[in-house]
Formats: sequence, C-alpha cells, structure tokens
Amino acid sequence: MAELFYDQDADLSIIQSRKVAVLGYGSQGHAHALSLRDSGVDVRVGLHEGSASRARAEEQGLRVVTPAEAVAEADVIMVLVPDPIQAKVYEESIAPHLKDGDALFFGHGLNIRFGFIKPSTNVDVCMVAPKGPGHLVRRQYEEGRGVPCIAAVEQDATGKAFPLALSYAKAIGGTRAGVIKTTFTEEAETDLFGEQAVLCGGTTALVKAAFETLVEAGYQPEIAYFECLHELKLIVDLMYEGGLEKMRWSVSETAEWGDYVTGPRIVNDQTKAEMRQVLAEIQDGSFANNWMKEYNAGLPKYNEYKKADEDHLLETTGKKLRKLMSWVDDER
Ligand code: NAD
Ligand code: MG
Ligand code: MG
Ligand code: MG
Ligand code: MG
Repeated sequence: MAELFYDQDADLSIIQSRKVAVLGYGSQGHAHALSLRDSGVDVRVGLHEGSASRARAEEQGLRVVTPAEAVAEADVIMVLVPDPIQAKVYEESIAPHLKDGDALFFGHGLNIRFGFIKPSTNVDVCMVAPKGPGHLVRRQYEEGRGVPCIAAVEQDATGKAFPLALSYAKAIGGTRAGVIKTTFTEEAETDLFGEQAVLCGGTTALVKAAFETLVEAGYQPEIAYFECLHELKLIVDLMYEGGLEKMRWSVSETAEWGDYVTGPRIVNDQTKAEMRQVLAEIQDGSFANNWMKEYNAGLPKYNEYKKADEDHLLETTGKKLRKLMSWVDDER
C-alpha cells in the first residue's frame, strides 16, 4: 500500500530557507509560484525574454528573470516548461548554472525516466506533482485546502532530498490533502499508460467507434452524439464521486445489466493483450523516443491526426449541438 504524508510530516521551514526558481508560468507554473510565495518562500519565475506569460506573472506580483538567471540565483529549480522542450532548457539554461547541493524538481517524470535529461550526480533530483490541473491546485490552496500530490526522489545527493520534497509539497498545499510517495519510473510509466489506454486514447477511440457504428447503421448523427459522447460526462462524474458502485446505483437496472454483459465483449482479452503491449512499449522507452522524434521533426503525423479528427462527423455534429445547450461552455 502507498505511503501517505500530511502537514505534520512536513517541515515548511526547509523550503523557506531555500531560493526557489519556477521555470514556466503555465498551468502548473503559476500555481506553484504563487502558492510558494504565499507560503513565505523566496521565489522567482524564469521565463525567456519574449514569453507571453511574463506580463501575467509580473502583474501577479512575482519577480520574473530569464531561466538562466533564475537558476543562477536559486538553489531549488522546479522545471514546469512543456515536457518536450525540457531537455533543451536543461542544456541551455539549467546545467551551466547548477551548483553542488542544488535541487532539481519536476512535475512529471518523463525526461528523467527516459534519459532525455541526465543531471550530474551532485544535485538532488525530486518530483512534486499535484494530481490535478494547476488552476485547481491554486484555488484549493487559496481556500485553505489542497490537491493531493505525489512526491519522488530520483537522486539524493544531499541525503535530505525527500524532506525537501515534502516541504515543497506543503508550500503548495499538497500535504493538507495528502502526499503519496512514488518513484519517477512509476509516475512516468503509469501517467503515459493512463492517458493512452483510458483517459485520452481509449476513451476517444471508444466514443468514435460507437458513434460510427450507430451512424453506419442509419441512425441520426445527432442522436448518436448524445448517446455516445454527451452522456459520458454524467457517467464519469458518478464514477469520480463514488466509483463503479455509485454509477451502477444511479443508472437503470437495464443499463446496469447491459454494463455487465456487454462491457467485457467490448474490452475483451484481445484489448487487454494490446494494453500489455502498449505498456511494454512505454516501459522500454520506444513510445517516449518516437514522440521526441515526432516533436523534433515538427509534428508532421501529430498534425495529420489532429486534422483528421477535426473533420470527423462526431466533431462537426458536436459543434452544432453544443450551441443548443446554453450551459455547456465551449470556450478555449
Ligand atoms: P503549460 O504548457 O501550461 O506551461 C508551460 C510554460 O512554459 C508556459 O508558461 C510557457 O510560456 C513556458 N515556456 C515555454 N517555453 C519556455 C522556455 N523555453 N523557457 C521558459 N519557459 C518556457 O505546461 P503545464 O501543463 O503547466 O506543464 C508543466 C509540467 O507540469 C509538465 O512537466 C507537465 O507534465 C506537468 N504537469 C502538468 C499538469 C497539468 O495539469 N497541466 C499536471 C501535472 C503535471
Ligand atoms: Mg543557483
Ligand atoms: Mg497524468
Ligand atoms: Mg501526462
Ligand atoms: Mg441513454
């Protein structure tokens, strides 16, 4: 079972005695930087000169310098720029300014787990990753609550890396909710698997295949959209609140019976064998290597896949139907 840590297990004064650089001011970066500051931590934000986020960070009362300056000033560096560019930022702006005993922090384990970043042995390497989007992390902190976090240590140069990670997690509200100890390997591999098999890949493929099945059988796309996509939210909300049990308690007995007899025919032994293959390709690094290759080639296939789905009847039908539902917010 997982090891959990709460406020009383973490010493805020550890991170308060350090100088923290937060690189990036997006979803996670803004939440970390603002909550660290409000927890009495000496924090600066590292953003490149032309960054659109600079003005926003300054308006919110933070001091903004370049990533290289931030790393030079600080002794705890939290890397919250997009994953595919972290290795470049590390080479150009972080590595030249790291000193003995500094700590390198991440919000996701991908670059360390798959070796795109290989930190020198004289620094601590830690992860503090909230299990929620940055805006929720910040809002919960402001309300005196917190989003659960996971924390990990990949390299413990000082012998004090885990208490430092817990202290950082406390400063962003994580220990108010609970911090689970993990490893970079477990976090990186399960994160990729979850988003591929279920959250993004599995779900979008399931919805599209079911929608196409109904439309090809002659049913109206609008009706198929409601049954296969729109109503998914209601089901997922119930699962989120109370697991499979609450969802099955809430739906009709007919729906529940259909769940039991048909679910295992749709996601069957063949699907599970493919899931094991997907996991193997994550574990052996081929997924991460292929993704970096695609990213560095300028995203040719990524853009092709994106375009194909934009034109899918499911999407054009949805655009039309969502306009009929005043309570559905389709803003980006
Ligand atoms: P994001 O895309 O929202 O923000 C990225 C930020 O980096 C932006 O402020 C951008 O201006 C800045 N940036 C881009 N290039 C830069 C450069 N060369 N130098 C300095 N700054 C640069 O990113 P995010 O979603 O907050 O993700 C950051 C990290 O947090 C990733 O490792 C991600 O996996 C992890 N994470 C994200 C979430 C989430 O909910 N979004 C949750 C957990 C972990
Ligand atoms: Mg420094
Ligand atoms: Mg994830
Ligand atoms: Mg992810
Ligand atoms: Mg129905």
